[in-house]
Amino acid sequence: MAKVRYVTHLDSVTSIPARERRRLAAVTERFAFRANTYYLGLIDWDDPDDPIRRIIVPDPAELEDWGDLDASDESAYKVAPGLEHKYEYTAVLLAHDFCGGFCRFCFRKRLFLEGNSEVSRDVEPGLEYLRNHPRITNVLVTGGDPLLLSNKRLDYILSELRAIEHIKVIRVGTKMAAFNPHRILDDPELVATLGRHSLPERKLYVMVHFNHPRELTPTAVEALNRLMDAGVVVANQTPLLRGVNDDPEVLGELFNRLSYIGATPYYVFQVRPTQGNKHLVVPIEEALSVFEEARSHCSGLAKRARLVMSHASGKIEIVGATGELIFFRYHRAADTHQRGRFMVFARNPEATWFDDYLRDGEVAAIPASIFGPRAKIGAEVSVLELLAEGGASV
Ligand code: SF4
Repeated sequence: MAKVRYVTHLDSVTSIPARERRRLAAVTERFAFRANTYYLGLIDWDDPDDPIRRIIVPDPAELEDWGDLDASDESAYKVAPGLEHKYEYTAVLLAHDFCGGFCRFCFRKRLFLEGNSEVSRDVEPGLEYLRNHPRITNVLVTGGDPLLLSNKRLDYILSELRAIEHIKVIRVGTKMAAFNPHRILDDPELVATLGRHSLPERKLYVMVHFNHPRELTPTAVEALNRLMDAGVVVANQTPLLRGVNDDPEVLGELFNRLSYIGATPYYVFQVRPTQGNKHLVVPIEEALSVFEEARSHCSGLAKRARLVMSHASGKIEIVGATGELIFFRYHRAADTHQRGRFMVFARNPEATWFDDYLRDGEVAAIPASIFGPRAKIGAEVSVLELLAEGGASV
């Protein structure tokens, strides 16, 4: 059994010079530090720009004034303690307020701050809501990291969810396979618990969180195989992060290696503008270009990911761009009337979030020569509407 030790004080990380540690104290006072000896061991300390270091080691740039604590307004969709219901068929159960490490880009860091009560130890009201809402077929158990719960507690939650007939898919969101794969490898009971709740016609998905191919160590790959051998479906999601995976070669390698292992590359997220993460944000149009180039190095199986923004109004796919225009589509919409809606905006290379295209209700002129007179200004235009008017050709 591997001995992995959790580290919550930077002073224990002696690979960081003492002077730098002192400088970072102001950062960790605001946003806590947490890592472990396995994950810190992946860092090349001779490289100040090491991508794993950027994921886990605090940075003075986190003190820059930027973003919100709840950038996607998740708490607005809270329907019971610890339960969010934003999309018709899907609910999110916040089962834990702790992770194997604290990612510096985390969009849920508010859960780790003192006084936050969005995660509830009592899941019963949330389960009751789920029992009473038969249109919910998908539940994402997340947090925080559910694989840090005791096996008994995790088993209880999964058993209760499985007892609800209309819930077909249970997803467990975790970064433990990257942060500390020994949590999976050293505990056969955990793997058996997950496997037991993955049924022939109602699978359990483990949504893993690899940001960089270097996290796919032989130990991590073994942990992924252990999960898949137990009958669990594994898919990966990652934000597109400055200095971590914003190089098409790196992102393409991540996609390819995941596909070789049998873990589906699922979502790539535009980083949510969350307090403390500005230095890790890549503007949307640059992210799209990195994403598309990365995909060009991949086989079909490796290019199944979608590039999306988890906006307050829904999950918006960044579909593509021409020289002057950028195209979005609601992949999931909080307002069912917006489902699948296709949107076109003039390009804005500075934009880091969907709101930047809507700023002040003003959008730069979309050339009339492309879309006809209706497209001159204003908010997004429906391509279908324009086509119906005979004004568009895309
Ligand atoms: S694993 Fe997820 S919830 Fe946990 S710190 Fe990282 S981004 Fe935040």
